[in-house]
Amino acid sequence: MTLSKRVLKMEESVTLAAAARAKALKAQGRDILSLTLGEPDFPTPKNIQEAAVAAIEDGRASFYTVTSGLPELKEAIVQHFAAYYGYAIEPNQVTVATGAKFSLYTFFMSVIDPGDEVLIPTPYWVSYGDQVEMAEGHPVFVQTTEAHDFKVTVEQLEAARTDRTKVLVLNSPSNPTGMIYSAEELRAIGNWAVDRNILILADDIYGRLVYNGHEFTPISSLSEDIRRQTVVINGVSKSYAMTGWRIGYAVGRPDIIAAMGKIAGQTTSNPTAAAQYAALEALKGSQDTVESMRQAFEERLNTIYPLLAQVPGFEVIKPQGAFYLFPNVKKAMEIKGYTDVTEFTTAILEEAGVALVTGAGFGAPENVRLSYATDMATLKEAVRRLKEFMES
Ligand code: PMP
Ligand code: GLU
Repeated sequence: MTLSKRVLKMEESVTLAAAARAKALKAQGRDILSLTLGEPDFPTPKNIQEAAVAAIEDGRASFYTVTSGLPELKEAIVQHFAAYYGYAIEPNQVTVATGAKFSLYTFFMSVIDPGDEVLIPTPYWVSYGDQVEMAEGHPVFVQTTEAHDFKVTVEQLEAARTDRTKVLVLNSPSNPTGMIYSAEELRAIGNWAVDRNILILADDIYGRLVYNGHEFTPISSLSEDIRRQTVVINGVSKSYAMTGWRIGYAVGRPDIIAAMGKIAGQTTSNPTAAAQYAALEALKGSQDTVESMRQAFEERLNTIYPLLAQVPGFEVIKPQGAFYLFPNVKKAMEIKGYTDVTEFTTAILEEAGVALVTGAGFGAPENVRLSYATDMATLKEAVRRLKEFMES
């Protein structure tokens, strides 16, 4: 028996793999500080937990729901869009799925034919390219530069476009860079996509995690034309500390949304009912915890960024959103005699006991990713160890 060519070609998710390695070493008794996963360290807010418990206890969570999500949850997403995106949508433009990651997968499976090309600004979040390949499309990686704050320009997109280009992936605030596109930049990109009839996949999952006065503009809010051309991916994992619950959603053209629901109907069926009741409370209940967690991330960023910038050989742009730092470690690798960033990341794990994610998985062979979605003491100690490692 041989495994399928499809799965053999796929990369393992480097973020999940790095987190699993750190966990395994810790279980062996090693002193490891893990800055791997992009996952809030806060427990899910109490009101959200209680909503799930109530749905379990009174039996509402016992049954299949509509595959594309509870009608009341879709209604809450409609309200959420009115409040945070500033435009009206209909429930048939919403489909809820088992995590934003699965929403992304059903999107690519719904719009990509074999050979279609998807433009992916690089550095990119780890799963986009592999998901496009699972849908038999071609990821076309468009390299951005640190000098331009890791943001792609219309000129670069136009140079990468062919007549097979079907989709542009935009992730702002970005995982892994933390950069946010301005409204003007987005308008230029959006109008270009409209003119060229290229679909925009806007992964807005970090939209509420922005710091130090920076603002998130959803590209879909900029004009009717851009909105029609865009499918938005969002979810509750990051802003509500709900990574374990696995609820994401997509908003866009009814035909694409229905197709995505059809794929869910033949794979996962509905996302877990209790988790949907929890997500309903997340969107409809008090938003105070979103803000208090945002403030905690902001404080960590402002504390840890200047410390990281002092680590010899680490050059880092201050992020504006999400919860990652993405230093360029080219000089650090030279100092320590490494040419491969994955080997360098492994050395940091082995010698300093700090688990990071290699930039290689994000298409960035000179960078490493640190998640600051962990407590301040761990962050400070991790950066102290990095400094000690670099100075030894
Ligand atoms: N998009 C980006 C950019 C992410 O970082 C993540 C992290 N998990 C996801 C999508 C998927 O989120 P979810 O937990 O909802 O699957
Ligand atoms: N998105 C998070 C990260 O980048 C969680 C892990 C994953 O889904 O890949 O760390």
